[in-house]
Amino acid sequence: MRGNIPDYQLTTPATLGDALAMLASEPGVWKPFAGGTDLMVLLESGNLRHRNYLNIWPLNELREIAFTDNYISLGALTTYTDVQAHPVLRSEFPMLCQAASETGGLAIQNRGTLGGNIINASPAADSPPALLAYDAEIELTSTSGSRWIPYHGFHTGYKQMQMRADELLTNIRLPRNTTNHFHYYRKVGTRKAQAISKVCLASVGAVTDQKIADVRIAFGSVAPIVLRCVKTESALKGHALGTDTIAMARESLRNEITPIDDMRSTASYRLQVATNLLADFLEKLQSHPV
Ligand SMILES: Cc1cc2nc3c(=O)[nH]c(=O)nc-3n(C[C@H](O)[C@H](O)[C@H](O)COP(=O)(O)OP(=O)(O)OC[C@H]3O[C@@H](n4cnc5c(N)ncnc54)[C@H](O)[C@@H]3O)c2cc1C
Repeated sequence: MRGNIPDYQLTTPATLGDALAMLASEPGVWKPFAGGTDLMVLLESGNLRHRNYLNIWPLNELREIAFTDNYISLGALTTYTDVQAHPVLRSEFPMLCQAASETGGLAIQNRGTLGGNIINASPAADSPPALLAYDAEIELTSTSGSRWIPYHGFHTGYKQMQMRADELLTNIRLPRNTTNHFHYYRKVGTRKAQAISKVCLASVGAVTDQKIADVRIAFGSVAPIVLRCVKTESALKGHALGTDTIAMARESLRNEITPIDDMRSTASYRLQVATNLLADFLEKLQSHPV
C-alpha cells in the first residue's frame, strides 16, 4: 500500500551549501532525493522508511559534465540521457553509454541519476560495473570539505558504503586512459528493455606483444555488491590469450564470485552466464587490433 504522503517531509535547499548545512546540522535526519526513481518505488509500495528528504534535483552545481586532458567528471545529478548525449562519453566511455541506454525506459533515463544509482547500491545496478571497470573515483562533500576516493572499495557489503550521514555524493570522475583499450559491456536480463540484470559484465582490456597488459573486469548481480574481479584480473595479466588462459580465467572467476538464487534467476545460471561472458570478452579481446 502507498506510503501516507503527509508522513513525509521534502524540502528544497536553494544552493549546494544550504543542502550541506542541513545535512551537517542534523546528521542522519535528512536524506537526498535526486531523480526519485528508486525512492518513489519504495513510497508507492509503502516501504519508504525514512521520512525527511532534501530535494537536490534543482541544484545545477551537481549537473555539470566537464573534462580536462586526464579526466572527465560528471556531476552526481547526471542523468542517463545526459550520459548518452555527451560526445566524449560516447567516444571514450562507450560502456557507460551502453549501460545508460539499457537502464529502464526513456522516462527513467530522463530522471534517474548516476549518483542515485551508486548510493542506492543495488548489486544489480547497470552503470556501476562500467564505472568500476573505468577506475572511477567519487567525490564526497560535506561542510568540512571534499574528499575523492576510488569507487572500487566504496561499497563494503549489501547496501553498505563508506559515506558519512553529513556527506553528499557530488561528482564522479573517470580517468581518460582507456582510449586504446577494447571495451565490452553485456547486460543479460529477461527482456531487452525494462529488465533488471540477471548478470552484467563490464570489462576493458589491452594486449601488448601478444600478452595481456591491462584487464579490468567488473560484474553486477554475482555478489552482494557490484564486484571488481581483481583476483581474475591478476591471474590474467601477463598471459598470452588462448584456450588455456581462457579456461584458467573461467576457473578463477568461479572461485571469485558468489551468485545467489533469487526471484530473477538461479545461482547456477548466473555462474554459467558470468563465465561465458568472460570467455566471450577474452575471445574478442584476442582478435582486437591494438
Ligand atoms: C521502472 C524502473 C526501471 C529501472 N531500471 C533500472 C535499470 O535497468 N538499471 C538500473 O541500474 N537501475 C534501474 N532502475 C533504478 C533507478 O532508476 C536507478 O537506480 C537511478 O539511477 C536512481 O537515481 P535517482 O536519482 O532516481 O535516485 P533517487 O531515487 O533519488 O535516490 C536513490 C538513493 O540514492 C540517494 N542519493 C541520490 N542522490 C544522492 C547524492 N548525490 N548523494 C547522496 N545520496 C544520494 C537517495 O537518498 C536514495 O537513497 C529502475 C527504476 C525504475 C523505477
